Amino acid sequence: MSLKPFALSPVLVWFRRDLRVGDNPSLTAADLSGQPIIPVYIHDDENPEGGAAHWWLHHSLKALGTDLGRLGSPIIFRMGETSAVLEKLAAETGADTLYFNRIPTPREAVREARIVSRLQSLGVSVHSHETGLLFPPGRIRTKDGNNFKVFTAFWKTCTTFPDPSPPTPAPNVLKGWATPVSTVGLDALGLLPSGVDWTGGLHETWMPGEADAQRRLTEFVEDGVIGHYDSDRDRPDREGTSRLSPHLAFGEISIRTVWHTVRSMGEPGNGMTRFLTELGWREFCYDLLWHNPGMMLRPLRSEFANFPWKGDKAAYNAWCKGLTGYPIVDAGMRQLWRTGWMHNRVRMITASFLVKHLLCPWQDGERWFRDTLVDADPASNAAGWQWVAGSGTDAAPFFRIFNPILQGERFDPDGHYVRQYVPELAGLPTRWIHQPWNAPPLELAAAGVCLGKNYPHPIVDHGRARANALEAFKMISNVRGGDLA
Ligand code: FAD
Repeated sequence: MSLKPFALSPVLVWFRRDLRVGDNPSLTAADLSGQPIIPVYIHDDENPEGGAAHWWLHHSLKALGTDLGRLGSPIIFRMGETSAVLEKLAAETGADTLYFNRIPTPREAVREARIVSRLQSLGVSVHSHETGLLFPPGRIRTKDGNNFKVFTAFWKTCTTFPDPSPPTPAPNVLKGWATPVSTVGLDALGLLPSGVDWTGGLHETWMPGEADAQRRLTEFVEDGVIGHYDSDRDRPDREGTSRLSPHLAFGEISIRTVWHTVRSMGEPGNGMTRFLTELGWREFCYDLLWHNPGMMLRPLRSEFANFPWKGDKAAYNAWCKGLTGYPIVDAGMRQLWRTGWMHNRVRMITASFLVKHLLCPWQDGERWFRDTLVDADPASNAAGWQWVAGSGTDAAPFFRIFNPILQGERFDPDGHYVRQYVPELAGLPTRWIHQPWNAPPLELAAAGVCLGKNYPHPIVDHGRARANALEAFKMISNVRGGDLA
């Protein structure tokens, strides 16, 4: 009688918003199982990303594929309804276990529960891990057991918890599955634009993937940018923030890697404390979404459901294209279009302009950002818009209306940011760069600016727009009997 060698069945590792090999709990657990690993990414029509995020995803998957291949366990790509694909793959390969990292949103939690129950019913055991946040969703509660409505109290409570556990290193080698498994090519996922290629600016600006995420974090910390973060984070004309957001959105670096790298710098200065607090805002946004699954569509404060939006299509289009006639707004919208990213201060200014100056619904802006941001994130984007619109739980009051001229002069005092993204104004003296319509005709001519020809007149008058916004707000505050203060 001859003894056949005992063949271990493979395990599946389902990659999602965790496109990295370092500090990846599911990959580590699969590795520790000692069984051969089949990593898989599934492109499902249910995935909600926009065009810029799709571009990022394509290149991030390419980088992940290279890393996994180098470690000995090449990734496969499949398309279709996720649980059906996983079920088929398990049947094809004899895989007896599925590992995945959870995505901390209510929508994904429902989807995951459906997938888990289907696979378990087929005899596949499933192990999932929490990795997207510093604190698992729903964990941070008030003394009464409710969720927090205000950021400061939320973050104060977070900071009473012990630090999250330290990150785990990437494996040196992975046990691959010797039998070939069919895969579609990455290009077949259709993540890149099929018509006109508008992605040149994205290529110039970013390098998706774990290696660049780590490089950005290291430079942010070691080059000392973080030391000035407190003072520079509001300046779009400086490289004063980490630009980690798209890497975090796709899980190319874990949030606890960021947390521990920053904490390991020693005693917190103002820059470090402020930076960690901003990571706290990300946690807060996810907490809000966890408790308010409809937050991407519906205002958190119900009275805003009746807000008398004007919704002017032409004005909305001018905003999208960066042709409002307000240089700081236009610079922001063009930075977004060209690079897939916009500075946080300018996100607030442009969002406020759409909602308050143009009286367009915040949901329209949320959708445009979702389609054009490489860091588009369901929690932070919706929360950011609701914060600006005044309909969030801990939001800027509606009647606080950003003045785009003063904001420009304060946060881009030399006009460098405007000159970079609105080159037709580059020759204007700094005095007029944020209000070209007030410049004397001779100075406009000398700078080659012809208002109405190569740069628009303002599409709304700031003073009148402000008055209209306050009037509209009065209508909903009257409905609820509120006071404008
Ligand atoms: P840094 O200043 O270096 O901060 C580090 C990290 O902290 C960020 O990468 C991000 O993960 C987190 N963070 C910082 N500020 C915030 C904040 N206000 N809210 C939530 N998390 C924060 N952020 C997204 O990641 N995706 C979005 O889709 C998104 N949409 C937004 C829409 C609006 C209208 C507004 C006002 C803000 C939005 N933000 C969004 C938050 C913020 O603008 C970005 O996180 C930040 O600009 C990213 O740049 P950074 O990585 O250099 O940030």
